[in-house]
Amino acid sequence: MNLSADPEWENRDRLVFSKAHGGYGLYAILADLGYLKQDDWQTFYNGSFLSGCIERSEKHAIEASCGSLGHGLPMAAGMAFGAKLQKKGYRVYCIVGDGEMQEGSNWESIQFAVKYELTNLTVIVDHNKLQAMDYLDDVLTIKGRKDDLQKKFRAFGFATGSCRGHHIREMASSIQRIIGLGKARKKPQVIIADTIKGYGLLCMENIPKFHFRLPSGDELKMGTRYE
Ligand SMILES: [Mg+2]
Repeated sequence: MNLSADPEWENRDRLVFSKAHGGYGLYAILADLGYLKQDDWQTFYNGSFLSGCIERSEKHAIEASCGSLGHGLPMAAGMAFGAKLQKKGYRVYCIVGDGEMQEGSNWESIQFAVKYELTNLTVIVDHNKLQAMDYLDDVLTIKGRKDDLQKKFRAFGFATGSCRGHHIREMASSIQRIIGLGKARKKPQVIIADTIKGYGLLCMENIPKFHFRLPSGDELKMGTRYE
């Protein structure tokens, strides 16, 4: 992303983090970038502006309040459209969950993005096959058709690709490639990132209950497998 030390720099690239309950990961990165102070964590969940679902704070580079889900992508499409109208060069990235892709608001904004050839919009789907406390297959996805998301996006007119979501280099190169393709074909883009919820903590991986709860000391002893 094209960023500067000033989080409110007008021409910065935007990130809309639609799956807002995963904001802890975003906060850690914003702290690494210097947009949050390391001690902002001290009051986390205890009066802090860092809430369980992210809330907009431009001075901290948090671009949009999200959660309820299904609203980040419409906002991101609007930002990308605004950039296009104003002939600004910034790009808009939007990270969505695979569960929230069931929501109709997303498919309205996808049609909008295609109609207005928003080549400056890149969507990344965290495809962990879980939504809240259950598996996609048990909620609304037809069993055995977990790979339908890419087909759906392509049918609506997006440039599409996929990657292993825990391989950062592969993800970065996939995003670069799909942006190039989108520019050439005048299409917004999406990368479906294949992920495992709770990746790296052996007690937590792919177990729905950890959507809300913390691991116990004994569970943490099961170890990690970060690459
Ligand atoms: Mg999910």
